[in-house]
Amino acid sequence: MKTPFVTLEQLEQITARYPTPFHLYDEKGIRENARRLKQAFAWNPGFREYFAVKATPNPQILKILQQEGCGVDCSSLTELMMSQRCGFSGGDIMFSSNDTPAQEFTLANQLGATINLDDLTHVEFLRRTLGTLPEMVCCRYNPGGTFQLTRSEEGFQVMDNPGAAKFGMTRPQMAQAFCRLKELGVKRFGIHAFLASNTISNEYYPALARILFQLAVELKEETGCHISMINLSGGVGIPYRPDQPANDIAVIGEGVRLAYQEILVPAGMGDVAICTELGRFMLGPYGCLVTRAIHEKHIYKEYIGVDACAANLMRPAMYGAYHHITVMGKENAPQDHKYDVTGSLCENNDKFAVDRMLPKIDVGDLLVIHDTGAHGFSMGYQYNGKLRSAELLLQEDGSVRQIRRAETPEDYFATLIW
Ligand SMILES: *Cc1c(COP(=O)(O)O)cnc(C)c1O
Repeated sequence: MKTPFVTLEQLEQITARYPTPFHLYDEKGIRENARRLKQAFAWNPGFREYFAVKATPNPQILKILQQEGCGVDCSSLTELMMSQRCGFSGGDIMFSSNDTPAQEFTLANQLGATINLDDLTHVEFLRRTLGTLPEMVCCRYNPGGTFQLTRSEEGFQVMDNPGAAKFGMTRPQMAQAFCRLKELGVKRFGIHAFLASNTISNEYYPALARILFQLAVELKEETGCHISMINLSGGVGIPYRPDQPANDIAVIGEGVRLAYQEILVPAGMGDVAICTELGRFMLGPYGCLVTRAIHEKHIYKEYIGVDACAANLMRPAMYGAYHHITVMGKENAPQDHKYDVTGSLCENNDKFAVDRMLPKIDVGDLLVIHDTGAHGFSMGYQYNGKLRSAELLLQEDGSVRQIRRAETPEDYFATLIW
């Protein structure tokens, strides 16, 4: 059973002021979760979460996380600029990009961000772009092959395919990059890897940590480089389905601690800072898309048409991703109707749910589409001339604040030459 963080009564008040559709975020949930993460890694004095801005690029969200002690992980010029305007600088910014344009490295360096290099050739590219390299550089590792977890407590298997992913450097390239960077004057090094996405397993981070800690020990021996940071990146997932167990961040933090004690401490590397670049785990459950049923259609299947569409939330159309739906006010009604819940794009994949058992939906009902707080609004687009929705924040005192207005047709037309 998934329960929305907002009630029907609250939503009726909110929709009286702000028309649907909109994304709504839960400040209390965001803060409490950020504190749990911090607590889980409190054993590591250098620990810091750098929130993956691409998940939820909104200044008010970034400022909440900033107050909770987080930095930001950027991968584009505008993400860097937004972070700068929010008051992040220097050590607050991780720049983990790929296929990076020169001007982005330049801005990242001006801001004092920690640059995370995606490829061996980027060492020379960075040198040509910046002239002098920063004191600290991180490199992204790709072990190739497939990545699999077999020791998972819940019986979940995490499998991903780093060998087919465009990111990161091979093992020999990591050593080459470190040696060359050292020649060019870099003093401190970081190692990064992102091997699996949306993992529902307390074993992912500990398994990744073991790989990176081992690699750190080897690279230190081979190159003599001083490794000061290991970046576990993103990938800790959330239970989109009501029957999935949630990750326990305290267990995850403890698993990483054990690996640290076993591998890094005996190698004299007990001063290495751990960092994370979580996006989905930080925001996913603490946002929802609120939409209203505006049509019902009965042909070969039963359809409910809502006023949001894939332009507001792309994951179901793009990945076939499951997002739970609550029909507000009908939480206890029998789920005896099978619906496709659709948006209005001229694309048959514009469906938030396919063959979903739900209570009988009437035109005018409010639907909460769960877990849209990360990679929700941010993946939005304007296909079919659909406009981006507003984003609202449910604050800790229960009041609601608009943190991004909805686009208007004038916004859409603003870049056109008539
Ligand atoms: C997308 C991304 C993240 C965040 O991933 P989540 O799955 O949202 O945790 C972190 N780091 C990098 C480099 C990314 O591209």
